[in-house]
Amino acid sequence: MERIFNFSAGPAVLPAEVLKQARNEILNWHDSGMSIMEMSHRGREFTSVVQKAEANLRELASIPDNYKVLFLSGGATGQFSMVPMNLLRKKKNADYINTGIWSKKAIKEAQRYCHVNIAASSEDSGYTHAPTQDQWTPDQNAAYVHYTPNETIGGVEFNWIPDLTYSENNIPLVADMSSSILSRPLDINKYGLIYAGAQKNMGPAGLTIVIVREDLLGETVQNTPSVFDYKIHTDSSSMYNTPPTYAIYITGLVFEWLKKKGGLAEIEKINISKANLLYDLIDTTDFYHCSVVKSDRSRMNVPFTLKNADLNAEFLKQAQDRGLINLKGHRAVGGMRASIYNAMPIEGVLTLVSFMKEFAGDHA
Ligand SMILES: *Cc1c(COP(=O)(O)O)cnc(C)c1O
Repeated sequence: MERIFNFSAGPAVLPAEVLKQARNEILNWHDSGMSIMEMSHRGREFTSVVQKAEANLRELASIPDNYKVLFLSGGATGQFSMVPMNLLRKKKNADYINTGIWSKKAIKEAQRYCHVNIAASSEDSGYTHAPTQDQWTPDQNAAYVHYTPNETIGGVEFNWIPDLTYSENNIPLVADMSSSILSRPLDINKYGLIYAGAQKNMGPAGLTIVIVREDLLGETVQNTPSVFDYKIHTDSSSMYNTPPTYAIYITGLVFEWLKKKGGLAEIEKINISKANLLYDLIDTTDFYHCSVVKSDRSRMNVPFTLKNADLNAEFLKQAQDRGLINLKGHRAVGGMRASIYNAMPIEGVLTLVSFMKEFAGDHA
């Protein structure tokens, strides 16, 4: 069977080239006579895999030497707890920006450890924009500021990086980049900590990547289990316990694929073209609608509705017949959503756009 175009929000499409390479290596990795899955996480072979993955990620994202890279499990959801456990550092407050369902989940977990100041929120306006900084009410003494640069469900993306120089306290900026990491060049120095589940834009489920500035580590809230202490993981190069080895291997192949594509500046250009194709179509017909304000629209997750919601089921069925799948919106918001991560080829978006045009014409 041919590969279809999978618009799932996550676990999501992976580059076909990567999957083919993994297939070719699955029984016998580099003449070792074993699958990478069968190897010790501390052995020479796997160590080379994880070191190469880290080196490639550092190169792709220009990660400075004073930042550590961690390969963990537990998902971005695990980070909702690990961030406050590790970054409160005796403070009792943290600032959170509430721009959607994922922000809200992060807030709920943080509230178990500290007072959360909602420094800005777009909840009252239905999560359709990213509040600009002049609308924020930050706490000058917050332990950190947490935000979600790309809200996977609502399709709201910050096209700018918050500037925390309003405080003299050198407050670290923390970002849940699960659905936008590596979709554009990164300015790591602006952040204290970045985390992301791999299964949207990097690799398979099971792996969570954390990029953290060294000086923030070493002071956890009381009774923090060792497995949730970043310092313990950095001290053992992500081998404190068994990391998700196969997911690390595949993600490493995706990093190589990205390098071959020309890195983040090149992939960003492609991502902009893909997103423009879809939003232009949505905006030029009144058959489709996207409620996110134009400046804050996500390049990765494109939510849209049909003017006549009675046609939703027919739309999804006909799309599926064309090999365009997983376009149904998140159950919390309804409508449609096309997730067009790095690995979605432009042909997939072109096929979707021509289908949408035709469907609108047929049902006008
Ligand atoms: C998917 C997602 C999560 C949750 O990730 P898990 O790996 O399921 O824990 C958190 N934040 C964002 C922005 C996401 O897209």
